[in-house]
Amino acid sequence: MKHLAETVRLQESDRCHHLHPFTDYKQLAQKGTRVITRAEGIYLWDSDGRRLLDAMAGLWCVNVGYGRKELAEAAYQQMLELPYYNTFFQTSTPPATDLAELLAEVTPAHLNRVFFTSSGSEANDTVLRMVRRYWDLKEQPSKKNLISRINAYHGSTVAGASLGGMQPMHGQGDLPVPGIVHIEQPYWYADGGELSPDEFGVRVARRLEEKINELGVDQVAAFIAEPIQGAGGVIIPPDSYWPEIKRICSEYDILLVIDEVICGFGRTGEWFGSDYYGLQPDLMPIAKGLSSGYLPIGGVMVSDRVAETLIEEGGEFFHGFTYSGHPASCAVAAANIRIIRDEKLIENVAQNTAPYLQQRWKELQDHPLVGEARGLGFLGALELVRDKTSRSFFEERGKAGGVCRDFCFENGLVMRAVRDTMIISPPLIMTREQIDELMELAVKCLDLTARELGVA
Ligand SMILES: *Cc1c(COP(=O)(O)O)cnc(C)c1O
Repeated sequence: MKHLAETVRLQESDRCHHLHPFTDYKQLAQKGTRVITRAEGIYLWDSDGRRLLDAMAGLWCVNVGYGRKELAEAAYQQMLELPYYNTFFQTSTPPATDLAELLAEVTPAHLNRVFFTSSGSEANDTVLRMVRRYWDLKEQPSKKNLISRINAYHGSTVAGASLGGMQPMHGQGDLPVPGIVHIEQPYWYADGGELSPDEFGVRVARRLEEKINELGVDQVAAFIAEPIQGAGGVIIPPDSYWPEIKRICSEYDILLVIDEVICGFGRTGEWFGSDYYGLQPDLMPIAKGLSSGYLPIGGVMVSDRVAETLIEEGGEFFHGFTYSGHPASCAVAAANIRIIRDEKLIENVAQNTAPYLQQRWKELQDHPLVGEARGLGFLGALELVRDKTSRSFFEERGKAGGVCRDFCFENGLVMRAVRDTMIISPPLIMTREQIDELMELAVKCLDLTARELGVA
C-alpha cells in the first residue's frame, strides 16, 4: 500500500519512540503503524484519508459513537471550572458526586455506591483488595482466594492480569500472583464436544463448586467473571450456566464479582450484563462504556452488603488513586450516561437494531469458513474453521483470524481477531443501513479469506 508522506513521517517517528501495548515490536516496525486521525459516528479515518467502519467501537468502549460535542463540551467546561481535585482526605467535587448518584440509579438496585478508578484494570485491583478486606472485617481472614476462569480478561495490571486467565500474559512476569486460581470457561463451541450446550453449561459451572470444595470454603473469598467473555472471543455461556453459578455462590456464601467493563452500559441490550442474566453481584467493576472512552475512567460498584461492612466495621481503607473521581472524567461520564438514558439508546438496541444485527449476523453461519456465528445484543463472533461439520479449527491456530483481520482493514472494516474467532462490538448508535454495510464488508472479507486459505 502506498502511504502519504505524512503517514511515513508519523510511522517513522512512532517506530523510534513509542512502545505500544499488546504489540510484537519487531513485527510492527516492519509493517508500520496504522495512524488514525479522526472519527465521526461509527467511522474512522486514517492518515491516508481512508475510511474504516469501526465494528469494535474502539476497544469495546465508544458506545455513543464518535464526535459527540456534548461530551467535549462537558470536559471543556469542567476543565475551566475545576480541572483537578482529589477525592482523598474527606473531599469531593460536584462531578464526582453527581456521577456516583447517577451510577446508583442506572445500576441494579442493591448497588448504591461506587469506588472510582481510572481504568478497568485498576477496578479489578480494587476488587482484589476489597474482597480480602471484606472477609478480614467479617473475621474470616482465611477467605483469601479468588476463583476466576481460563481465558477471562480482567485487565493488565498485576492483579488484573492475574485475575484474567490469559496464558500468554501469565507467561510474562510470573503470574498469577498467589491466591488466584482458574477454572474452565463456558466455551461450548471449542470445548463442548458431544454435550448439548446446556449440559456443558452446568458441567463447567460445577467446576466452581468442585474448586470451592477442593480449596475449602473457608479459603475462598470470591468468584469473578465477565457476563460474556469479551477479549476471550465473545464467549456467550449456555443458558444453563449463570443460574448454576448463582446457586453455588449463594449456597457457599462467596462473593460474586461481575466484571461489566464490556457488558455494561448497553452492550447486551440491557444496562448491564447482570440485568440481562438476572445476576446480583456483590461487586461490579465498570469502565470502557462508562465514558464511551472519551476520557479514562473506571470504578467498582459496591453492593450494600459489602459497603455497609466497609463503613460500619472498617476504619480507613488504605487504597485509592490520584485520579479516583477525576472531575473532567466524571463530568464526561455523567454526560455520556445521560445521552444513553435520554436518547434511549439501549431501548433502541434491544427493540430495533440488535435483533436485526443478530438476524443478519447469523446468516454468516452459511459461509463455508464459518463454523458458528453467534451473538447477543451488540456483540458478535464468528468461528473460522477448517471443517464445520466436525467443528475442527485450522492446524495453525490464529492464522485464519489474522488473514481475515488484514483483509478487513484493507477493505475498510475494523473487525478484531481472537485466535480464529472474528469478533464485533459496534457502537450502539449503529443503524440498520450501517448494519447492512457491515454485513456486506464482512462477507467480502470472509470470501477473500476463504479463497486465500483454499476453503471452498
Ligand atoms: C478492557 C477490560 C478490562 C481492563 O480495562 P482497562 O481500562 O484496559 O484497564 C477489564 N475487564 C474487562 C472485562 C475488559 O474488557
